[in-house]
Amino acid sequence: SVNQISSIQGKVHEFLQGTKELFIDGRFVPSLSGKTFHTINPATEEVLAVVSEAESADIDRAVKAARRAFDEGPWSTMSGAERSRLLYKLADLMEKHQVELAQIDTLDNGKPIRETLHADVPLAIEHFRYYAGWATKIVGQTIPVSGNFFNYTRHEPVGVVGQIIPWNFPLLMAAWKLGAALAMGCTVVLKPAEQTPLSALYLATLIQEAGFPDGVVNVVPGFGETAGAALVDHPQVDKIAFTGSTEVGKLIMRQAAQTLKRVTLELGGKSPNIILPDADLSRAVPGSLMGIMFNQGQVCCAGSRLFIQKKAYDNVVADLVSMTKNIRQGQGIDPDTSMGPLVSDEQQAKVLGYIESGVNDGAELLVGGHCPTEQGYFVAPTIFANVRDEMTIAKEEIFGPVVAAMPFEDLDEVIERANRSDYGLAAGLWTENVRNAHYVASKLKAGTVWVNCYNAFDAAAPFGGYKQSGIGREMGSYALNNYTEVKDVWISLS
Ligand code: ADP
Repeated sequence: SVNQISSIQGKVHEFLQGTKELFIDGRFVPSLSGKTFHTINPATEEVLAVVSEAESADIDRAVKAARRAFDEGPWSTMSGAERSRLLYKLADLMEKHQVELAQIDTLDNGKPIRETLHADVPLAIEHFRYYAGWATKIVGQTIPVSGNFFNYTRHEPVGVVGQIIPWNFPLLMAAWKLGAALAMGCTVVLKPAEQTPLSALYLATLIQEAGFPDGVVNVVPGFGETAGAALVDHPQVDKIAFTGSTEVGKLIMRQAAQTLKRVTLELGGKSPNIILPDADLSRAVPGSLMGIMFNQGQVCCAGSRLFIQKKAYDNVVADLVSMTKNIRQGQGIDPDTSMGPLVSDEQQAKVLGYIESGVNDGAELLVGGHCPTEQGYFVAPTIFANVRDEMTIAKEEIFGPVVAAMPFEDLDEVIERANRSDYGLAAGLWTENVRNAHYVASKLKAGTVWVNCYNAFDAAAPFGGYKQSGIGREMGSYALNNYTEVKDVWISLS
């Protein structure tokens, strides 16, 4: 339980010592240049670990290892059942080391240990188990075509996949990327975010222990413009799967077009969360607060545009403010903490900039808006009221603990305003009326609609964006498509 782990495990201390090397072809190796970079504990601003920095020569080495494991085997020659067993074994090892994994993500990202232990890590484990099940269930079709032919499809793995992930859920994002790719039989070069490379490297030790063949998974921490770009450019990479900002997503798509790599993108959002007057407010208010404040607001599907029907507006806003004042901010590693620091000084400065723009645009700052401590990249949970749709804080993704509350009058008005965004990742709705629930769910342009809940996730349920929130879906059976080439075979029977 959380109470047993208020102190950092000896194994984690040990892991943090020395230079954390790249994981390439089944071994931990220094970068070819010998370069390293620091990863910072955002709660203390201290150096947490020294990490080898991958650049294009290292990426090339990792891609070649992945290429060999795919082209020559053993990965491509192993059965689905064998891949499945390895994925289950990895999940078991993660379970055995769940406290270490949780502590590493908490120290590296800042997020509360309560969340890493009860959300990030268990979701990541279940993700591998879910896709372990799929590895034995990849099947094509037999197709009754005209003429004297036998026609069938083979669902083949797409090949070597470059996976680039962000810092907000370091381990979970690695799991979302790896699960479907490995179940399908692809090999992977995974580039974690430079802010949070440690849990992916710890996962690599478990991948090694589980007995995955060399080169099947390679983990290459480094920076976006160097390591990430080299992966996107590499001619021997067949597909790029990216999660991160819309800006970088566009860059990657343009770059990947040079070699026409397959691309899936999971990008930003500015998700609407709508409270109707018939909602059960005892659930809607805390649920909406969690919808924006979870993970310090650093969530691509954060419910950052809170639309409240006029009749309920004053009550809801007052309750939100008093609940926000009770949020316990502190070091993530403290089991009593419910909100940690933001991931970096850069992110802190960006969020404070948005808060300033909200104040300058005339939004009403009801609570928060400041840095509560001298040390650590904290920003107090912040509520703006009477925000207008055209204000920057209502349009741009803040990626911090800042919500824009906005009143609305009627249902079709709020649907239109909710959809008036370049993004379309997720949406929330709070109502006790079943007709309204299905009506609004059908009208919202978003990849996920949560009704009377928010931030619910399951490995079996697809997740991804409409519009500029991305291309493709992760999780569920849908994610398998991202890693599949369909081959159609014609056999003449005449
Ligand atoms: P954020 O702004 O929240 O840090 P980014 O989209 O910049 O999000 O980063 C998400 C991931 O994309 C990180 O792993 C980062 O290193 C990587 N990245 C950033 N820029 C590039 C790029 N030009 N090419 C490839 N990867 C990149």
